[in-house]
Amino acid sequence: MPETPAQKKTGAQTILIPTASGLYCPAGDFYIDPTRKVARAIITHGHSDHARKGHGAVLATRATLAFMALRYGKNFAGTSQIVKEGETLTLGDAKVTLLAAGHMLGSVQVHIEHQGATAIISGDFKRSADPTCPSFDVRPCDLFVAEATFALPIYRHPPPEGEIEKLLLSLHLFADRPHLVHAYSIGKAQRVIALLRQAGYDEPIHVHKAIAEASLIYENEGVSLGSLETLGADLSDPQAFDGKIILSPPGGVAEALHAPVTSFASGWMRLKSAAKSRGGDLPLILSDHADWDELVTTVKDVGAETLWITHGREDVLAAHIKETLGVDAKALSAVPFAPEGLQP
Ligand SMILES: [Zn+2]
Ligand SMILES: [Zn+2]
Repeated sequence: MPETPAQKKTGAQTILIPTASGLYCPAGDFYIDPTRKVARAIITHGHSDHARKGHGAVLATRATLAFMALRYGKNFAGTSQIVKEGETLTLGDAKVTLLAAGHMLGSVQVHIEHQGATAIISGDFKRSADPTCPSFDVRPCDLFVAEATFALPIYRHPPPEGEIEKLLLSLHLFADRPHLVHAYSIGKAQRVIALLRQAGYDEPIHVHKAIAEASLIYENEGVSLGSLETLGADLSDPQAFDGKIILSPPGGVAEALHAPVTSFASGWMRLKSAAKSRGGDLPLILSDHADWDELVTTVKDVGAETLWITHGREDVLAAHIKETLGVDAKALSAVPFAPEGLQP
């Protein structure tokens, strides 16, 4: 008997259930980016709000496992298994494929197929080009679970090349001052470096130790970042960095530098209040998350009948998607939790 749309929808919605530990797939008996220690986890990418330590068995890309080992030490999980992007694994009754998410090196979406229905968990993602990772792989699905960090129409990220131009122009105008760019040490910092290289900047870039360590993983994965110098004892000579670019995680080395031009690279710099309070002299709007237009386009592209939204202004996006695309969209927090004891 042919499957009716209603049956198909129900099928997709049983692939995943929200639990207190995060999204759980009963057919494959695993969690995605669980918030508590679990027996089996698939990790979408190396950021600490997704990749936690202490799980029994972890499946992830090689880069994600390397970032976890860097942050937590090599015993971050009982066992770990490398899965390549595009490779399909059978876990219990589910077929699982990790698809590029375009968020940072090693980041993936989790595609799950069970009894003819499909679900995709986007993890963090973006659609704009990023020289440090493959772009978001669009696949159709019945249920799409999307992160929506920037789910308000005011969030429209400008082209990253233009933001990097601002930095290079400032470096040209204030050639005797150090340029200190604050960026998160895994992902954003390397994207800033790669964009600078793309724009033709080939001077050594001075980086905080945490950025240097993460950058080694990029080099190992074949993403070349050019000449990087790790900040250390040289900080005792404040004038050594005049006319240089220094990258550090937020809150880093500003005091040690002589009259630095300070900058913060973040999608939040789109907000005038954030740019004023945290952006320093030169706020750079550089985001690794989809903006409003990318979110809406992506929901259209995957053609899902059901959309669950996490992280951010779920209500606004859900209402917009429902109205314009007729998709059954809701905040993940509004999807009923699994009854106690259903999941292991
Ligand atoms: Zn992330
Ligand atoms: Zn995240």
